[in-house]
Amino acid sequence: MPLYEFRCESCGERFEKLVRWSDAEQKPHCPHCGGEETRKLISTVSSFGSGESSSGLSSGGSCGSSGGFS
Ligand SMILES: [Zn+2]
Repeated sequence: MPLYEFRCESCGERFEKLVRWSDAEQKPHCPHCGGEETRKLISTVSSFGSGESSSGLSSGGSCGSSGGFS
């Protein structure tokens, strides 16, 4: 079930609501004022790749010729 974010056009409150796929076309009522004029906001899920910064790109040293003699 996707979690959508809505905004009430009446009172301006924003709220999140789990919406079933079958009820995706239905507008939920505002939990604050009970208004029916709610707008679905396009909220990107920001839980993917949570701050996994690639730190330390130092791969190998700068000393080249190491054990090439045979
Ligand atoms: Zn409202």
